[in-house]
Amino acid sequence: MPGPKLEKLFEFIREDELIEIARGLIRIPSPSGEESAVMDFARGILAEHSIDVEVLSRDPARPNVVASVGTGRGPVIVFNGHLDTVPVPDPWAWSAGPFAGELIDGRLYGRGASDMKGSCAAMTYALILLRHLYPDLPGLVQLQLVSDEERGGHFGTKFLIEQIEAGRLPRPDAVLVGEKSDLKLRVAERGVFQFKVRFKGRATHTAYARAEGINAVALAARAVAALDRPIDRFHPAVGYPVISVNMFHGGETPNQVPAEAVITIDRRTVPGETMESVLAEVREVLDRAVAEFGGGSYEILTGEDERQIPFTPANMTDANSRLVYMTNPNSRLVWAVQEAYRQVTGREPEFFVEWAGATDGRLYRQAGIDTVVFGPVGFHAHGPDEHVLVDSLVTQLKVYLATVLNLVTTSGLG
Ligand SMILES: [Zn+2]
Repeated sequence: MPGPKLEKLFEFIREDELIEIARGLIRIPSPSGEESAVMDFARGILAEHSIDVEVLSRDPARPNVVASVGTGRGPVIVFNGHLDTVPVPDPWAWSAGPFAGELIDGRLYGRGASDMKGSCAAMTYALILLRHLYPDLPGLVQLQLVSDEERGGHFGTKFLIEQIEAGRLPRPDAVLVGEKSDLKLRVAERGVFQFKVRFKGRATHTAYARAEGINAVALAARAVAALDRPIDRFHPAVGYPVISVNMFHGGETPNQVPAEAVITIDRRTVPGETMESVLAEVREVLDRAVAEFGGGSYEILTGEDERQIPFTPANMTDANSRLVYMTNPNSRLVWAVQEAYRQVTGREPEFFVEWAGATDGRLYRQAGIDTVVFGPVGFHAHGPDEHVLVDSLVTQLKVYLATVLNLVTTSGLG
């Protein structure tokens, strides 16, 4: 394959160009549902470099940018990143503005800097370098900048996988998702299961609270305290499961004992946990809470709120070989990323298990496509002063480039 060797390729990297792309993305607010402007900006950058780019969407208000380089003969490698972010409810809590894109001591600040506009900039820049330096790149490297990751991916990655399954997009041999991973490989992910519990009591005047009321808020509070605890069940690929009660609604008016309270639970699962096993554990805790409270009842509600992610099992790349890949990768992609990491850093790659949140990578794994999540070192995702280490974006960029070269220059994908 003509084009520079790895060392030579890295000399073309200009850190300031990478930062400029990242800043451009951060400066355009894009909470889930309002991704159009930032997608336009990204499409413009790619088009400026004469890269084939198209906009695909289930809903035109929720666009996805898909850009490709390469001759098409050889492996199909996808870089996937989301450009939607969570909102900024507390701009006053930020020391640098959430949309300024300030660079302080090698740290780039802003909403989405870590999750994951910094990484999307690295992937975009990787495509630009490949486009200019390897005009005859075998195979296809496709960048997918998607909407809607923070709310489940219905308009984003799920939609693109439907296009793949319908034959309108090429089926990837390998997918790299650029979510923060502290430059470690994420080959497995916890599952997600979000559901509600509705507690029912008996309304009455406050004066009769002790006589005939059953306070649903008090019952729910007791249940929340019992539910929201560490779960002692470690899995070597993804760490501990998590249960967190993230929403609480109850009561109608100040002088009435409330008849109803509703909580929303976000449960992250490890391999082996099922919807049934999770619900059985929750019921056990709730039954005890109701018994100790001495009245009231509850029901579990799944799938009633479109913001809730339905049960999605934990998933691992190369799940058939279980954890064998940790020492002896059967996945060509896992091998290619590990090798790239060694080439770039001279160190042995590590696996990321301690903070395995859900990413769009789960959707590709469920579609049977080899997927590795590899991204930068970032801090305070979803909170004030979110930032990403620029150094780590440069390393990510190099590892992505080296991975592509490793994949297209070895025979086929296993
Ligand atoms: Zn993210």
